[in-house]
Amino acid sequence: MAGLNDSVAVLKGVGTKRQVALNKLGINTINDLLTYFPRRYDDLSIKDPSSAVDGQKVTVKGLVIAPPMLTYFGRKRSRLVFRLRINDQIYTVSFFNQPWLKREIQPNSELIVFGTYNRARNQIQGMKILNAQTSNAFDSIYPANKEVKQATIKSLVKLAYETYHDQIVDIIPASLRAKYRLESFSDTIRNIHFPESPKAAQRAFRTAKFMEFFLFAMKVQILKAAHRKQDPQAEINYQESVVTKFQENLPFKLTAAQQKVIQEILADLSRPIQMNRLLQGDVGSGKTVVAATAILATISANKQAAIMAPTEILAEQHANNFAKMFAGLPVNIALLTGDTSAAARKAMLPSIQTGEVDLVVGTHALFQADVQYADLGLAVIDEQHRFGVNQRQALRQKGTSTNMLAMTATPIPRTLAITMYGDMDVSVINQLPSGRKPIKTTWITASKTNAAVRFVKKQLDSGNQVYVVTPLIEESEAVDMKNAVAIFERFKAIFEPQYQVGLLHGQMSNQEKDATMLQFKNNQFQVLVATTVIEVGVDVANANTMLIFDADHFGLAQLHQLRGRVGRGATQAYCILIADPTNEIGKERMKAVASSTNGFFLSQKDLELRGQGDITGQKQSGMPDFKVADPVGDLNILTVANQEAQRITAEKHWKTKPENVQLAKYLQFSQTINYD
Ligand code: ADP
Ligand code: MG
Repeated sequence: MAGLNDSVAVLKGVGTKRQVALNKLGINTINDLLTYFPRRYDDLSIKDPSSAVDGQKVTVKGLVIAPPMLTYFGRKRSRLVFRLRINDQIYTVSFFNQPWLKREIQPNSELIVFGTYNRARNQIQGMKILNAQTSNAFDSIYPANKEVKQATIKSLVKLAYETYHDQIVDIIPASLRAKYRLESFSDTIRNIHFPESPKAAQRAFRTAKFMEFFLFAMKVQILKAAHRKQDPQAEINYQESVVTKFQENLPFKLTAAQQKVIQEILADLSRPIQMNRLLQGDVGSGKTVVAATAILATISANKQAAIMAPTEILAEQHANNFAKMFAGLPVNIALLTGDTSAAARKAMLPSIQTGEVDLVVGTHALFQADVQYADLGLAVIDEQHRFGVNQRQALRQKGTSTNMLAMTATPIPRTLAITMYGDMDVSVINQLPSGRKPIKTTWITASKTNAAVRFVKKQLDSGNQVYVVTPLIEESEAVDMKNAVAIFERFKAIFEPQYQVGLLHGQMSNQEKDATMLQFKNNQFQVLVATTVIEVGVDVANANTMLIFDADHFGLAQLHQLRGRVGRGATQAYCILIADPTNEIGKERMKAVASSTNGFFLSQKDLELRGQGDITGQKQSGMPDFKVADPVGDLNILTVANQEAQRITAEKHWKTKPENVQLAKYLQFSQTINYD
């Protein structure tokens, strides 16, 4: 029997060649075709240009008042011009590169033209000529290409709908459709392809968006349930006394928030289920010691742990920190990064494989093919948003029943919490260690740079240290470096010999970077000029001021992270953003960072101001691709769809409930989530 999963090749007019071309557009089945939605609708209802908006498209009807003029420029380019009288006004209409239209333009006959209206010139730049019988007032415009034309898609969609519309079943349970006043799927498809009005299309899109989010959320919930499977190997029988003693010996008292998340993590570890937890805590909230507790618990149960960081500097800092924290304990630590020498690596790998090494600290090198673990009980991923989904999985798959703890300082806006991390449990450290003062942030324009330099001088005079962050030009590390060097020279000229100035950039070797960082930490120089390589993790308590050049080139979350490098001690910390944003959005972004120290707010704001296009554009971000819905703009629909998916899957026998049968059947055949 024919069905929606039939190949498009069954349609009349689709031969092998056309089938291949359609496949390239992602259209393989009838279902794909029916859900290949228009990009926009052209309003073909006839209007008087005087009521049209300047620069917008409009459909007009008028009388051709003189023969058209056709001019060629070279062989291919041409311009066809004629005059049209509409309600006693004369308009000039021009068509570019469509010389064949000349035949259709007869003096003293009526003509309907669709095109862009230019008020100042009283002109219409024509796009197409319509005949009087055009049935729909709204023309669906599909993404098309050279091989598959607009008209072809349109007629195939029509044919597919006519042949198959009886078979379009409703996947969304009836109770949900009633509750949210959603259309049936069949109506949705009809109203999106052949709307009676833009409003009708809009209503149909609302259903389509809900459906897209809802099905996504259902898949996430199913995935989450799959992770929750009993797995005796995943259980970590840690020694409580080891953990308690470790906490007692810390040089500070854990905050209540730290204690709470540690409890959540330890409870997870002691269950025979793989942990899949995201630890979210603002910069400086003290995630490292939380990770250390989980790591130590794992090792006390005779299993291995690994912690992966995005940069060499950070991995080394972690290795040093853990060595200090675990001093006196029987914990054998190895540092494995891209920088580890071949000889050291060769010596290290066997001891990781035999289990002699308890904790492996490193970068991406941790999941290389030849790195094998004896029994990886816990994988910690620091600054996890810097890694792709696949990289996080690659590390996890180094063990058979590995528990995963992903950490991030980027507060996760609700949009991403649902879309990207929906299958994880979330712990939040919502409190900074006591005694920290909020960082004071100001935004100034480049013309005020001298005042900022005077402020820096004042801070240096009081014995504080200062970071100067140089412009970010994403395309080229070499250009970043050149900029950094220029600013470095400038600050040297201003402050030396009274104060020393250091330089840190991405093209330095890791030894050089580390040496520089260490010198800064030891106050051997007081000003550190750096590219964003200081962005994550590195800790210098005496630095209280940060100057950021061209701050508008950074993401808001990134600025928030950057300034988190200061304000780690008890002195008041300052951040000065130097930026001359060229548009309103840019100004709004700078004001947002200056006025808020709430990372959560800033991340959501960043998403809103950038829009979805930009997020999905960043491949490594792991944001799933939605066809019709926008997880930022349609956050409300997303939230509701997610709640409903959670509610449904929380019921034990949801799959066999009559109203869910179609849903369950659909999900059974599409288990995977496409990130990318
Ligand atoms: P982040 O969450 O940004 O990774 P870190 O773990 O690096 O933060 O901690 C920031 C600093 O705060 C470190 O120097 C750490 O030793 C210190 N710290 C962590 N927890 C506490 C606490 N409860 N009280 C005081 N200082 C703490
Ligand atoms: Mg950290």
